[in-house]
Amino acid sequence: MTMFTDRDVLVIGAGFSGLYALHRLRGQGLSVTVLEAGEGVGGTWYWNRYPGARCDSESYYYSYSFSEELQNEWEWTERYPQQPEIMAYLNHVADRFDLRRDIRLGTRVVSAEFDDDATCWHVTTDAGERLSARYLVTAVGCLSTANVPSIPGLDTFAGEWFHTGQWPHDGVDFAGKRVGIVGTGSTGIQAVPVVAEQAAHLTVFQRTANYSIPARNGPESAESRQAIKDDYAEIRRTQRESTNGHPFLISSRSALEPSADERRAIYEAAWQRGGLRFRASFGDLLSDPAANETASDFIRAKIAEIVRDPEVAERLTPRDHGFATKRPPIDTHYFEAYNRENVTLVDVRESPIEEITPTGVRTRTATHPLDLIVFATGFDAMTGPLLGLDIRGAGGRPLREKWAAGPRTYLGLQIAGFPNLFTITGPGSPSVLCNMPTAIEQHVDWIADCLAELDARGLTRMETTEEAEEAWVAHNNEAAGRTLLPQASTSWYLGANVPGKPRVFMPYAGGFAAYARICEDVARKGYDGFVRTG
Ligand code: NAP
Repeated sequence: MTMFTDRDVLVIGAGFSGLYALHRLRGQGLSVTVLEAGEGVGGTWYWNRYPGARCDSESYYYSYSFSEELQNEWEWTERYPQQPEIMAYLNHVADRFDLRRDIRLGTRVVSAEFDDDATCWHVTTDAGERLSARYLVTAVGCLSTANVPSIPGLDTFAGEWFHTGQWPHDGVDFAGKRVGIVGTGSTGIQAVPVVAEQAAHLTVFQRTANYSIPARNGPESAESRQAIKDDYAEIRRTQRESTNGHPFLISSRSALEPSADERRAIYEAAWQRGGLRFRASFGDLLSDPAANETASDFIRAKIAEIVRDPEVAERLTPRDHGFATKRPPIDTHYFEAYNRENVTLVDVRESPIEEITPTGVRTRTATHPLDLIVFATGFDAMTGPLLGLDIRGAGGRPLREKWAAGPRTYLGLQIAGFPNLFTITGPGSPSVLCNMPTAIEQHVDWIADCLAELDARGLTRMETTEEAEEAWVAHNNEAAGRTLLPQASTSWYLGANVPGKPRVFMPYAGGFAAYARICEDVARKGYDGFVRTG
């Protein structure tokens, strides 16, 4: 067998995943090149610069744990990090670990092809360059392919329009403008209050009303920063043993166990504390519809309390899905924004958008004059970024063909028929149901250990089997079926936000800690479910 490659590993993407993959793999003596489409590192945080962009996980744990020095030296300024601060952090990581010399910026991968004879991957870039490597690792993120709805007339719009995930680097001036925001997911909910303060008028086009929990953001004091640093070992241990990679455990208590008063007090305390931890208030919020309804009801009552116009409040009240069955947003004065004179809510389920005209948006029942439109319409999640790479496996089989009916992977890490390809936070892994850096570090560590073992044994090819993949897909479905998550019929977890996308529940819902144990077991059993040759 001939073996010609330029390097050991090609990594696609220089966000949280790609940076750590480079650091880890290079650290074990492999030659690695990272290809990054953006002109800077940061991935998600490089592209998503929309007003109000901030992480919903708290700063101190939405961060790498692999270096004690890094976590002790970095000073987060707020409870939740703003996009520029995360970018500064990731740039610091790139410098501190001397990563830049192996990262090629402004280099978009347009295709990747497995070479059966040479047992390597050939990757073609948008500049027509061809690079090869023994292993290909995708670090392309789960939410990086913008979903811009195809609304008739968009190309005739005389004003400017932007998707939040492709935001201009020099910002957008809303002053004096009539702005429309389409979408009320986590992104729209972050952007609405900020844009409302700057624009002359803001019209929010809502398709599905959403639950949201107040973030309660604020500055991080020197004392609290020090307390966190003193406790980091324990914080990181809890993250790794948790269901969602957060440093708190979900209560084991049923929401139906306490009296109504006690339950309300528990929710109220969680509401006042703010953040994603609200969903950890009880153990059965995502498994028992009656338990879920108690949380959903509590938030509905809050919306009614906050929003002064009862009609607007009712439109903002989610009734078609339970709390946290779609990814729960957290906000800073989102519902309050609808009390402003300059904010209008349009329910596009009631009156769908029919067309965009040169001067605005026309729904079935009204015309909304606009100078600027913001699409906070989300992403072709999880599969979009991978399918966009035009990956072809053994025998030239396109991934697009293999996944025509939805994604199939083993552990979210490998795809049968695509040897030597590893997908960080791929479909079938906990990824988006987790604090991402925690999920990413676990995947990168597993892949790095796996490659070290292959080299130590003189093996050159690793591929999961159809059987292992089939069993994982079944387990994935079964894990999702034990939760209420697949019941939210408009969820991007299911691909429901992209017209024509197969409805498959994509992330692994069995919990992060349980998943990590499975991965460890697979490795311990000699990489059970994989065929390794050389
Ligand atoms: P999203 O959750 O998919 O929300 C998109 C919104 O656009 C939804 O309200 C959707 O309505 C609406 N929409 C889509 N197509 C539409 C159309 N043709 N007409 C009208 N409305 C349309 O996307 P996102 O808000 O960007 O968030 C995606 C994920 O990114 C989040 O769930 C989260 O995991 C992550 N995120 C994280 C943070 C953070 O941590 N700071 C911030 C933002 C995003 P339907 O619900 O009816 O589909």
